[in-house]
Amino acid sequence: MTTNEYIDQAEESLLHTYNRYPIVFDHADGVYLYDIEGKKYLDFVSGIGVFVLGYNVKEYNDALKAQIDKIIHTSNYYYSVPLANAAGKLTKFAHMDRVFCTNSGAEAIEGAIKAAIKYAYNKDKTHDHEIIAMDHSFHGRTCGALAVTGKQAYREAFEPLICEVKFADYNDLESVKALINKKTCAIIMETLQGEGGIYPATKEFIEGVGRLCKENDILLILDEIQCGMGRCGANYAWHMYDVHPDIMTTAKAVGGGVPVGAFLVTEKVAKNSLVAGDHGSTYGGNPLVCTAIDKVLDLFESEHIIDNVNKVGAYLYEKLDEICAGYDCIKEHRGMGCMQGLEFDRPVADIINKALDKGLILINAGTNILRFLPPLVISTKDVDDMISILKQALDETVA
Ligand SMILES: *Cc1c(COP(=O)(O)O)cnc(C)c1O
Repeated sequence: MTTNEYIDQAEESLLHTYNRYPIVFDHADGVYLYDIEGKKYLDFVSGIGVFVLGYNVKEYNDALKAQIDKIIHTSNYYYSVPLANAAGKLTKFAHMDRVFCTNSGAEAIEGAIKAAIKYAYNKDKTHDHEIIAMDHSFHGRTCGALAVTGKQAYREAFEPLICEVKFADYNDLESVKALINKKTCAIIMETLQGEGGIYPATKEFIEGVGRLCKENDILLILDEIQCGMGRCGANYAWHMYDVHPDIMTTAKAVGGGVPVGAFLVTEKVAKNSLVAGDHGSTYGGNPLVCTAIDKVLDLFESEHIIDNVNKVGAYLYEKLDEICAGYDCIKEHRGMGCMQGLEFDRPVADIINKALDKGLILINAGTNILRFLPPLVISTKDVDDMISILKQALDETVA
């Protein structure tokens, strides 16, 4: 069958919630993806920040295959060896005390919100609580996650969602301060906003929010679903600031490709919020996905992933700065490590399509921002290859 035939076949049955690019992928290796016609693409999206170790890593694949032959699923009424291993490694890696495994990022946010609300309920036994979230934030598409997502267009048709949520301006501490009252139970934010346009938290802001939370016994929830797992140059991006969340979320890269996420809490939250019966998941943390977490964390260490992010991320920064300087239509270059963005004065859709034609996978963040989320194993040579295709794409679209 041809590409168009597969697309037609899929579109006959799929609910139309995505405008997909007209590519049918077949397989992948390293930092390259291949479509069914054999065309090769350099990947600077990694499945939206998921395939951090690159594709087709033998040690990872072998571990998953071996686990499939042992046991894939048990439910959470029992323990498994991969669950025990992954829980210990992930809490240590994240500098948190306890973990609950979910199947996605949005579910990790749901759990984080429930933990925060239960903590507040235990404290005052009322149901009258508020959450402060940030404008331009993105936390996922389920109802709870959507309630704290700072994009009205995503929320509008589905309101009312959960408890009262107020939106502050990211990187504006005064705007957060102005929303705090005695009902405020949690402040939720991304350490570096991804979907909303690649905005890193300033040191003053995130550390200031951390202090406000401590002073007012408000729980700080940091969403590290996109910016965590080494992407910004530390295990989790918040490790680079003088702040410690009470609750944090992780997903995307944490399983290196299988659907898994988690929310992690400090002992203080663990002792005063969710108890047996309050929360659960049939699949959450099953042996297959925990094997993946375990292997990803092993490979982070043995492959010195964070060192590579710091080295190649700095090189990418330099090269994108040059691009930014060379084109008038690029307004700003932002980001950290292997999570960077170029903001244009116009939509970037044409640039992405042109790059795809030329075998480079890029993605947007909002309409005007070109987002770079490569696998964390990229080399400076891969950056050079990307830049060369990007320049051609820019010259043929916006120059
Ligand atoms: C992707 C993302 C989510 C949602 O994760 P899903 O696995 O798609 O549910 C939440 N928060 C952030 C910051 C994300 O980037």
